[in-house]
Amino acid sequence: MSEIPVAGRQQPSAGRGKSKQAQPEVVDKLPRKRACTSSVWEHATKFDLNGYSCARCNYCGATYKAHPKKNGTTSLRNHIESCAKNPLSDSC
Ligand SMILES: [Zn+2]
Repeated sequence: MSEIPVAGRQQPSAGRGKSKQAQPEVVDKLPRKRACTSSVWEHATKFDLNGYSCARCNYCGATYKAHPKKNGTTSLRNHIESCAKNPLSDSC
Protein backbone atom coordinates (compact mmCIF):
# COMPACT_ATOMS: atom_id res chain seq x y z
CA MET A 1 0.00 0.00 0.00
CA SER A 2 1.52 3.21 -1.03
CA GLU A 3 0.10 6.52 -0.27
CA ILE A 4 -1.22 8.39 -3.14
CA PRO A 5 0.31 11.80 -3.03
CA VAL A 6 -2.25 14.45 -3.28
CA ALA A 7 -0.35 16.59 -5.59
CA GLY A 8 -0.90 20.10 -6.53
CA ARG A 9 -4.14 20.84 -4.96
CA GLN A 10 -4.66 24.13 -6.49
CA GLN A 11 -6.80 26.58 -4.84
CA PRO A 12 -8.50 29.02 -7.06
CA SER A 13 -6.81 32.28 -6.57
CA ALA A 14 -9.15 34.65 -4.96
CA GLY A 15 -10.24 37.08 -7.52
CA ARG A 16 -8.60 40.29 -6.75
CA GLY A 17 -9.31 43.26 -8.91
CA LYS A 18 -12.97 43.05 -9.49
CA SER A 19 -13.77 43.86 -12.98
CA LYS A 20 -15.97 46.73 -12.30
CA GLN A 21 -16.88 48.09 -15.59
CA ALA A 22 -19.32 50.83 -15.95
CA GLN A 23 -21.93 49.20 -18.01
CA PRO A 24 -24.16 51.47 -19.92
CA GLU A 25 -27.69 51.05 -18.87
CA VAL A 26 -29.70 49.59 -21.59
CA VAL A 27 -32.65 51.75 -22.08
CA ASP A 28 -35.12 49.65 -23.85
CA LYS A 29 -38.32 51.41 -23.48
CA LEU A 30 -39.07 51.86 -27.07
CA PRO A 31 -40.85 49.00 -28.69
CA ARG A 32 -38.45 47.27 -30.98
CA LYS A 33 -40.97 46.58 -33.62
CA ARG A 34 -42.34 49.73 -34.97
CA ALA A 35 -45.11 49.74 -37.40
CA CYS A 36 -43.07 50.03 -40.49
CA THR A 37 -45.93 49.06 -42.66
CA SER A 38 -47.58 52.28 -43.52
CA SER A 39 -50.49 50.43 -44.94
CA VAL A 40 -51.18 46.78 -44.63
CA TRP A 41 -52.77 46.95 -48.00
CA GLU A 42 -49.38 47.40 -49.56
CA HIS A 43 -48.60 43.94 -48.30
CA ALA A 44 -51.92 42.24 -48.37
CA THR A 45 -54.82 42.02 -50.73
CA LYS A 46 -58.35 42.46 -49.65
CA PHE A 47 -60.82 39.97 -50.85
CA ASP A 48 -64.30 38.97 -50.08
CA LEU A 49 -65.21 35.62 -48.66
CA ASN A 50 -68.90 35.00 -48.57
CA GLY A 51 -69.50 38.64 -48.00
CA TYR A 52 -66.92 38.84 -45.27
CA SER A 53 -63.95 41.10 -45.65
CA CYS A 54 -60.76 39.11 -45.64
CA ALA A 55 -57.19 39.76 -46.56
CA ARG A 56 -54.47 37.63 -47.98
CA CYS A 57 -50.84 38.17 -47.30
CA ASN A 58 -49.04 39.00 -50.52
CA TYR A 59 -45.97 37.12 -49.39
CA CYS A 60 -47.02 33.85 -47.91
CA GLY A 61 -50.67 33.74 -48.81
CA ALA A 62 -51.96 33.58 -45.27
CA THR A 63 -55.49 34.77 -45.02
CA TYR A 64 -57.00 36.81 -42.27
CA LYS A 65 -60.37 38.12 -41.53
CA ALA A 66 -60.18 41.81 -41.94
CA HIS A 67 -63.62 43.10 -41.32
CA PRO A 68 -63.15 46.80 -40.75
CA LYS A 69 -65.58 46.82 -37.85
CA LYS A 70 -65.31 43.35 -36.38
CA ASN A 71 -61.69 42.47 -36.85
CA GLY A 72 -59.90 45.50 -37.98
CA THR A 73 -56.50 44.95 -39.47
CA THR A 74 -54.58 44.44 -36.28
CA SER A 75 -54.02 40.74 -36.64
CA LEU A 76 -53.29 41.15 -40.29
CA ARG A 77 -50.85 43.93 -39.57
CA ASN A 78 -49.19 41.84 -36.90
CA HIS A 79 -48.77 39.09 -39.39
CA ILE A 80 -47.39 41.36 -42.08
CA GLU A 81 -44.82 42.72 -39.68
CA SER A 82 -43.69 39.29 -38.63
CA CYS A 83 -44.26 37.42 -41.82
CA ALA A 84 -41.18 35.38 -42.57
CA LYS A 85 -41.52 36.12 -46.22
CA ASN A 86 -42.03 39.80 -45.87
CA PRO A 87 -38.82 41.43 -47.11
CA LEU A 88 -39.56 44.43 -44.94
CA SER A 89 -40.16 42.60 -41.70
CA ASP A 90 -36.45 42.35 -41.00
CA SER A 91 -35.38 45.77 -41.99
CA CYS A 92 -37.34 47.77 -39.51
ZN1 LIG B 1 -47.37 36.39 -44.72
